[in-house]
Amino acid sequence: MADRAFGPRIVVLGRQGSGKGTQATRLASKYAVPHVSTGEAFRAAVKEGTELGRTVQGYMDRGDLVPDEVVEAVIKAHLFGPRAPAGFVLDGFPRNVAQAEALELMAGPRGLDVVLNLEASKDEVLRRIAGRRVCSACGANYNVVDHPPRSAGVCDACGSALHQRDDDTEEAVSRRLELYEAVTAPLIDWYRQRGLLANVDAMGSPEEVGSRALDAVEAARDRR
Ligand code: ADP
Ligand code: ZN
Repeated sequence: MADRAFGPRIVVLGRQGSGKGTQATRLASKYAVPHVSTGEAFRAAVKEGTELGRTVQGYMDRGDLVPDEVVEAVIKAHLFGPRAPAGFVLDGFPRNVAQAEALELMAGPRGLDVVLNLEASKDEVLRRIAGRRVCSACGANYNVVDHPPRSAGVCDACGSALHQRDDDTEEAVSRRLELYEAVTAPLIDWYRQRGLLANVDAMGSPEEVGSRALDAVEAARDRR
């Protein structure tokens, strides 16, 4: 019998530009659980000029990983502190095996429900990243080709200005893709061995990919 007493615990893996943020947002709203993006949490901290922001900014600008203990503390505070949500959609964490091991410990006996692996080709992600724009105020994502705002350069949701992410420079993007292959992609097998992996074809419109992702989550919940 599927345990549906709680919202699901979902991790979303995939290359930069595979649509992790977009799909994580959709799933979080579908299941009414928080969407936790480590990248967005760090961008907000940089913008607010907090101590965390000052710690992470250099790593982010270079496209390097922020140290594990810093990221793990953020996840612990958001997801496993005193007011822990019943379910979540994690986007951008874990990003290497050490972080996955830390998450396994934090998640305790209930564990995770499913790890979605969004599969998109390298050519496709490069194309998507080149067109990527983000709202300076609310963080909403757009793409000048695939998903343009109604009015050029202006957020549909809040009316603020859109811009390119500071770390979407050619050098930082190629560094992030390199790191993805080297340290994040091994998580695909790691989670497969634990019976948690679901591959999702991420080529296609956000709606098409979204319905595949939802099917994968539902199938995983039925198996629990
Ligand atoms: P992308 O998926 O395009 O690389 P993110 O928004 O997920 O973008 O992450 C932006 C940056 O934030 C990363 O390049 C890295 O510096 C930092 N970051 C985010 N998540 C992690 C993590 N789990 N571990 C280490 N660094 C991270
Ligand atoms: Zn906005």
